[in-house]
Amino acid sequence: MTAPVKIPPATLARLAKLGIHHRADLLLHLPLRYEDETRLVPISAVQPGMSAQVQGVVAHSEVAFRPRRTLVCRLQDSGGELYLRFLNFYPSQQKQLAEGKQIRAAGEARMGYYGLEMVHPKCRAAGDDTPLPQSLTPVYPATAGLSQATLRKLIAGALGSLPLDDTLPEALRQRMKLASFADSVRLLHNPPPDIAASALEGRSHPAWRRIKFDELLAQQLSMRAHLRQRGKRAAPRLAPQHRLTAQLINNLPFALTGAQQKAYAEISRDLDRPHPMQRLLQGDVGSGKTVVAALAALQAMENGYQVALMSPTEILAEQHYLKLRDWLAPLGIAPVWLSGSLKKKDKLAAVERIARGETQLAIGTHALFQEQVQFRKLGLVIVDEQHKFGVQQRMALRNKGKAAPEDDAEPPRPPHLQGGEGGFQEPHQLMMSATPIPRTLAMSYYADLDVSVIDELPPGRTPVITKLVSDARREEVLERVRAACLEGRQAYWVCPLIEESDAMERELQNAIETHQALCAAFPEINVGLAHGRLDSAEKARVMAAFKAGEVQLLVATTVIEVGVDVPNASLMVIEHAERMGLAQLHQLRGRIGRGVARSLCVLLYQQPLSELARARLKIIYENTDGFEIARHDLLLRGPGELLGARQSGVPMLRFADVSEDAALLEGARAIADEMLRDFPEAARLHLQRWMANRHDYLHA
Ligand code: ADP
Ligand code: MG
Repeated sequence: MTAPVKIPPATLARLAKLGIHHRADLLLHLPLRYEDETRLVPISAVQPGMSAQVQGVVAHSEVAFRPRRTLVCRLQDSGGELYLRFLNFYPSQQKQLAEGKQIRAAGEARMGYYGLEMVHPKCRAAGDDTPLPQSLTPVYPATAGLSQATLRKLIAGALGSLPLDDTLPEALRQRMKLASFADSVRLLHNPPPDIAASALEGRSHPAWRRIKFDELLAQQLSMRAHLRQRGKRAAPRLAPQHRLTAQLINNLPFALTGAQQKAYAEISRDLDRPHPMQRLLQGDVGSGKTVVAALAALQAMENGYQVALMSPTEILAEQHYLKLRDWLAPLGIAPVWLSGSLKKKDKLAAVERIARGETQLAIGTHALFQEQVQFRKLGLVIVDEQHKFGVQQRMALRNKGKAAPEDDAEPPRPPHLQGGEGGFQEPHQLMMSATPIPRTLAMSYYADLDVSVIDELPPGRTPVITKLVSDARREEVLERVRAACLEGRQAYWVCPLIEESDAMERELQNAIETHQALCAAFPEINVGLAHGRLDSAEKARVMAAFKAGEVQLLVATTVIEVGVDVPNASLMVIEHAERMGLAQLHQLRGRIGRGVARSLCVLLYQQPLSELARARLKIIYENTDGFEIARHDLLLRGPGELLGARQSGVPMLRFADVSEDAALLEGARAIADEMLRDFPEAARLHLQRWMANRHDYLHA
């Protein structure tokens, strides 16, 4: 092993841009593609369009001006000649390419002004006895100021000096039929010339398989470690008292579905443990997550703890507030409402009540986790539509569990909870999502969460019929809306989403204009308008009027995407459906089909449709199951977009792809459990190789 070379600071900075901070990162900086410089092609065999490496003598070299200053060289070998052309060149290049020099040039040939030519080929001095490289030449992801040559040198150095020991125990490696780590990285950095380049570039080669497996394994190991970490953190035990929860269940006008009961049982068990719950409650839109959340909240409250329920939008938070206020009033519980749009005075009053512990349940938007909000005794945090919040925001709420300093009314803690982080107890966390996440994605990105799934809709729902209608037939659609409203049914008219910088303004403008147009078209119908910029009182008034049936047609921007619940609404028109994503369309459509009437969702689209838009509309037309739609979405868009940019705290995969490598992921998950149990040291070394907690910093 050779001593590591000293790397200049400017290079270090550029490497950091590529995510290379440690010498071991160099090993895992793998090529994007390869150039074949292991072979020479006789010039006479070079065809236009072909990438080739040729070797010969510069027969002529001149700087021409036609029309721009250009270095033109004629390169000859024993059987033919071609031109090398450079638009930008240094004097040193000119010297390298002077008449009589022996040159090796690699590039793509084409027919040019002079005949067969290569523009800006890669050139180097080379005679007949200059050896050819023995492996394909890797092309690495690079950044400005960092050349391939520098990267190759650094990586070759790392390959020669770092241990490439396998972190996977031999028995597990054989069972998974995986290549060794050392062979795999060596091969990917220096593939032999006879290898199938397509298998390398398509990343299906066994060496790639091993690397992808290792990456997935590291992800699983770290998430599992996180999960175990949770077992060391303290949370209040909130045992079911069957008091408030039983009252709510008795008061409900419906019976819980089996899926709801099962989900609540799982949550209830978690709450009764002295470690923080971190559970994701997944259920398609309309599956009835709210009542399950309410039961969880009551279990915390009947133990004397406070609960925070947070939603991403004001309308959604307000829906929860109104619903829970009604459900909990007979139980003598009045939730407090907190949102950014409250008047300063009201906000202060709400914050006071939360801090003094005068309210057991706080419902609101992200205003709930702002600094001035201090809970007296927070036991449970419920986050609706959790994917709309960032990881940091959720962490912020977790820390709200810290009791106010003057708090002396705390019950004595059981001995096993004393000490630790100054006796700090975290609240339990329940996250809800109506954006179903396909199994592979959930396994990969939510491995640190437990998941409950409500996979059954409440009875009495009638499936929504979906129709795709070209905007050219708008008149017919208007007639349908009129007829439905006159029959006593209710409808939503959803205005287009606008994907521009001033999107909010334009979306709003559009909704206002549509509202005016529909008011004019339907003088006999009450048309309401809901959008994100209405103030709370106005919004509440419109939503209440729609709920009460006083407003028959509700024009809305995509603010109604989540949570709005009006069972009598059985018709929805979505304008410019072609601009919307699958998850959003599915969410919107879930607003109808909640009552006994047969529901219809009309997706209006504008021709011409892009390929992607056509694919999306076809999926939404053909599928009603949210999980199935999410699976298609994953294939269409990839995991990053599906999870949303906000999930930036989630480690993204560089090499593996959860939609393509599902089998490998299943394997990695099983092996991770086995390694943590039987080979903890190997697991530690594996994480060290793949994760950021290494010690061999480049600048050390
Ligand atoms: P989501 O999972 O989309 O948040 P909600 O909790 O808003 O769904 O529930 C949708 C509707 O179904 C609400 O009107 C709710 O009261 C009703 N609901 C929930 N559970 C049941 C049930 N078991 N039987 C009948 N209706 C139910
Ligand atoms: Mg909901």
